[in-house]
Amino acid sequence: MDHYGIIGYPLSHSFSPEIHNTAFEFYALQAHYSKLEIPEDQFDLLIPRLKRENWQGFNVTIPYKERIIQFLEELDPLAEQIGAVNTIKVLSNRRWIGFNTDYLGFLRPIQNHLKKIKNCLLLGAGGAAQAVGFGLLEKSEIKMLTIVNRSEDRGQKLIGKLAAHKNITCHLHALKSINTLNKTFDLIINTTSIGMGESKIPLNPVIYSHEGTIVYDLIYNPPKTEFLKLAEAAGLNIINGIPMLIGQASESFELWTGKQLPLELQSKLNEKLLFRK
Ligand code: NAP
Repeated sequence: MDHYGIIGYPLSHSFSPEIHNTAFEFYALQAHYSKLEIPEDQFDLLIPRLKRENWQGFNVTIPYKERIIQFLEELDPLAEQIGAVNTIKVLSNRRWIGFNTDYLGFLRPIQNHLKKIKNCLLLGAGGAAQAVGFGLLEKSEIKMLTIVNRSEDRGQKLIGKLAAHKNITCHLHALKSINTLNKTFDLIINTTSIGMGESKIPLNPVIYSHEGTIVYDLIYNPPKTEFLKLAEAAGLNIINGIPMLIGQASESFELWTGKQLPLELQSKLNEKLLFRK
């Protein structure tokens, strides 16, 4: 039996075990995926212990995507640039290699719209925003990126990292002075946690939209945040966090098993997770 798991804290709402165990079942693989909820004060003790056990792969989530890096023997170059790891593949000699599949998962639902996207507004500068920012830079269609964040330091750091990677026009704007941002965007992405399990919004996306704007919220619980509801009511194209969640899982699954999550299974999971609390 092969063993996989997700490392994070807390993990009560994680959908990852359901996604991966369904995929293992689909391919009749002798494998199981479990939750490894590790409190912050035990992380440095328990990770070396896991390294001595029989595991084939892991996902890593909040708050450990950066902290795990020191425990890896190898790091994929893009994960190194992003500075965050959400997937680990364990080799037969127990060497751990870190990857970032969040940025690929993020790009999947906008792949067919890229021709229309030049000018993006990115809300947030945390772990998810880093993967999203690097994902956007990978796409030559995207020419301009405006980042809005509450803490200017973190926003500035992200802009610096992105600008060092590729020559793209990047601007930073503070969330508190958002009223002075007088522009519309082709893609507006919420990567902040505002709206997760609550009805607050980071800003009203409709004010910064034109009729072709896509409004994308990384949050998947609730599946339709107030941010997305406002956009939908204004007739805008909306995307929630579920396709990204399934997309990053699918990329992790392929790294571990060499097999793809069949599209039919992905759309079944999408339907199922939409109604999950
Ligand atoms: P994080 O590293 O903690 O970053 C949180 C971001 O939200 C930061 O930019 C933070 O601003 C901002 N923020 C939080 N509370 C705020 C408030 N009250 N007012 C203003 N700004 C606030 O978290 P993360 O890992 O990036 O995750 C962010 C969200 O993305 C979560 O909802 C997570 O579930 C979602 N996510 C979804 C997927 C998916 O597959 N769909 C993948 C990854 C993450 P400061 O910098 O000022 O603190």
